[in-house]
Amino acid sequence: MQTVETDFLIIGSGIAGLTIALRAAKYGRVLVVTKSEIAESNTRWAQGGIAAAVGEDDSWGLHEQDTLTAGAGLCDKNAVRFLVQNAVPCLQWLIDNGAHFDLSTQNGFPHLSLGREGGHSRNRIVRRADQSGWEIERALINASRQQPNITIREFTFVESLLLKGSRCCGAVARPERQDAVCIQSRAAFLATGSCCQVYRYTTNPPIATGDGIGLATAVGAEIKNMEFIQFHPTTLYSRTHRSFLISEAVRGEGAILRNVFGRRFMFDYDPRGELAPRDIVARAIHAEAQKTGSPFVHLDMTHIPPAELQRRFPNILETLKEAGIDATRDPVPVVPAAHYQCGGVVTDLNGKTNVDGLYAAGEVACTGVHGANRLASNSLLEALVFGFSAAEHAAGAAEPPKDGKPARNSLAVVPHQLAEGVLFRLKRLMWEHVGIVRRTHGLEFAKHELEEMMREMPVGEPFFVRGAQTANMLVCANWIIQQALARKQNVGLHYNADLDTPSETRDASSS
Ligand SMILES: Cc1cc2nc3c(=O)[nH]c(=O)nc-3n(C[C@H](O)[C@H](O)[C@H](O)COP(=O)(O)OP(=O)(O)OC[C@H]3O[C@@H](n4cnc5c(N)ncnc54)[C@H](O)[C@@H]3O)c2cc1C
Repeated sequence: MQTVETDFLIIGSGIAGLTIALRAAKYGRVLVVTKSEIAESNTRWAQGGIAAAVGEDDSWGLHEQDTLTAGAGLCDKNAVRFLVQNAVPCLQWLIDNGAHFDLSTQNGFPHLSLGREGGHSRNRIVRRADQSGWEIERALINASRQQPNITIREFTFVESLLLKGSRCCGAVARPERQDAVCIQSRAAFLATGSCCQVYRYTTNPPIATGDGIGLATAVGAEIKNMEFIQFHPTTLYSRTHRSFLISEAVRGEGAILRNVFGRRFMFDYDPRGELAPRDIVARAIHAEAQKTGSPFVHLDMTHIPPAELQRRFPNILETLKEAGIDATRDPVPVVPAAHYQCGGVVTDLNGKTNVDGLYAAGEVACTGVHGANRLASNSLLEALVFGFSAAEHAAGAAEPPKDGKPARNSLAVVPHQLAEGVLFRLKRLMWEHVGIVRRTHGLEFAKHELEEMMREMPVGEPFFVRGAQTANMLVCANWIIQQALARKQNVGLHYNADLDTPSETRDASSS
């Protein structure tokens, strides 16, 4: 196998990966390996924005309090403080690297125009219309391409990490239609994003297959809080079009949820109606869909002036139009969908995992910032802040041992002829039994079914990307089910209808 040497190996090219790359480039050679084209990531689809206490009436203390409230008692307080105290300098760094955000004029001077989302006590969402993530991704790609110390390899899939004793010393990667390459590095960074593709309905793009959790599991990294999956209440329901998120802000502007018979139903569930916290809205839609026997409900914005909708949500209107829906005239069919993975690979404030030489940042990581529920727009910020600290910490990493071996999970690749069938079964299983409303017997059934699926799988199969991704999704599903079964109290995003404790629902609605 061909061997490549670098100082810092970064797996993933979303906000976490490219932030680490740009910071680490000051200290040595950086290789960014990404499995699709560089921009394809959860980052590019983020609509809302990035939270930072930059308003005159705001402070990191208020941002800290809101984050802790959303996390329902399970946040790591040190991590939260680290996040909010570093938010403004990191945002400034992003702007210095070319990200443009919306401005408004106050007293004749331009200021960042700040939005408000559920759970924030102040206006603190820095945004670029409804395409904030795209703007951030664009700026970071541009900056990375200008940095001579950074090499980017697109369409290159990392299949395993290299391990020597308990030290991670690189990875094995497969460039498309080429042989595997062994990459030796002083430090390896998982910036691989989420695993929400394990669910039948998700807002995440197809790359979100939880590979980082699969890679980390194989080297014995600690994985935590995987039961806390955030479901977004309103995504487009379509048999022909890709699932697409319709931001909370549309309900903030007055859009109404109606069942398929046209009846407004949210007040049956919560006095705050459509503006109830996200998990309440998701559960209400789930309940209403079950009652009416329809897989979706409607989001009605036809009473809002079209010009206003066009000004606030140009991208949403355009995407709905491509799906054949004119939202200014017709109600939009919506369904909740898996949106954000709060848990992941456990890291400290420096993004370090319990495996020497291995770091993680962004959605794949569990820094402790989100606890049991994520506060709106804290995820892009978390990737930025912890990406920064991880790169700085790794600057001093020692030379790697040269003879590391690839670490694989027992199920390295799901065979070609089985992969699509396994995925179909898995996504259904997770949606029906490990989704928005869980039950103990459903979780146990899912555990049993998953074990069956894993037992039926032949071992030693030849490599192909879809098979490796499917194997990683099985690993992720296993973590979610195990940790959901172990959680004996309803808290934050974990809701098991068989537990008598009420869910600690806080307003953590987010985009
Ligand atoms: C529709 C939507 C809207 C959102 N809105 C907001 C918002 O407004 N505010 C907010 O804060 N958050 C928002 N989020 C969440 C936020 O976008 C993500 O948490 C964040 O972008 C994650 O960044 P990341 O760098 O960790 O991962 P990603 O951006 O997902 O990047 C992961 C990268 O890893 C690569 N990769 C994965 N596996 C492998 C492998 N095996 N080998 C090589 N490469 C690999 C992928 O190709 C990709 O480049 C939203 C998410 C979605 C889906």
